[in-house]
Amino acid sequence: MQRNGLRGKTALVTGSTSGIGMGIAQALAAQGANILLNGLGDDIQIARLRQSIADENEVDVAYHPADMSKMRDIEDMIRYADSDLGSIDILVNNAGIQHVAPLTQFPVAQWDNIIAINLTACFHTTRLVLPSMLSRNWGRIVNISSVHGLVASPNKSAYIAAKHGLLGLSKAVALETATTGVTCNAICPGWVLTPLVQKQVDARAALEGLSDADMKQRMLIEKQPSGEFVTPEQLGGAVVFLCSDAAAQVRGVSLPIDGGCVAQ
Ligand code: NAD
Repeated sequence: MQRNGLRGKTALVTGSTSGIGMGIAQALAAQGANILLNGLGDDIQIARLRQSIADENEVDVAYHPADMSKMRDIEDMIRYADSDLGSIDILVNNAGIQHVAPLTQFPVAQWDNIIAINLTACFHTTRLVLPSMLSRNWGRIVNISSVHGLVASPNKSAYIAAKHGLLGLSKAVALETATTGVTCNAICPGWVLTPLVQKQVDARAALEGLSDADMKQRMLIEKQPSGEFVTPEQLGGAVVFLCSDAAAQVRGVSLPIDGGCVAQ
């Protein structure tokens, strides 16, 4: 995509106060898109993030604190975008949480929360933005699934169910919009070193008596043939590609960006 290829477009990236979502928001802003940030976090840090993305890219950056587990909050966020920013042209469903426990001990409240945030929220945002995308005959929906949307690991049942479900939702939306200027696709990242993964590194390092560095190395060896973490910047680049004209016929794909994880 030529620089500034998304100037004038408005992008909502859910869960963009941290990690992968922040990287995607920065990559879209670098192409000129105005950004609606969303996610949890400290008010002062979020205000700084807004300011730095706006200043670096000369774009408008807004923030909405919708709790993605709550339908009313999501509806309020999309109403806010429609009235104050301009309708959403690019929707990146990224907010997500993880909980690791064997199925028989999996807390029911954690199951409900993971399905709500990682899957049901993506249904709500999509159903709310799609009518206006279709009326303008242009839109890009990118769902951040995971390699765990394609393959499973033990002790992550809710996350894996939600991420597999999100790939199904992406394909269904892609087919329902196939004859229009709206596309819907999913990205399936491997390990990315964000707070979500650092928590798992910390838990396993304590359990297995390894240093932080050795634990990371072991986790990469187990899953990722490249031996390297994927970066938020690389995922941002993939989202920018899916928003480009070159990707207009990329529809319903589940794109692994995973250092070779699912090739094994
Ligand atoms: P992260 O913890 O750094 O970021 C998660 C974001 O979601 C944060 O902005 C957080 O505030 C937001 N969030 C969490 N609960 C929320 C709620 N109830 N309402 C609104 N926002 C909420 O994690 P990350 O690694 O950047 O994960 C981002 C996405 O990428 C998730 O969907 C995750 O499943 C997926 N993913 C991550 C990896 C990885 O290795 N890190 C791999 C594959 C997929």
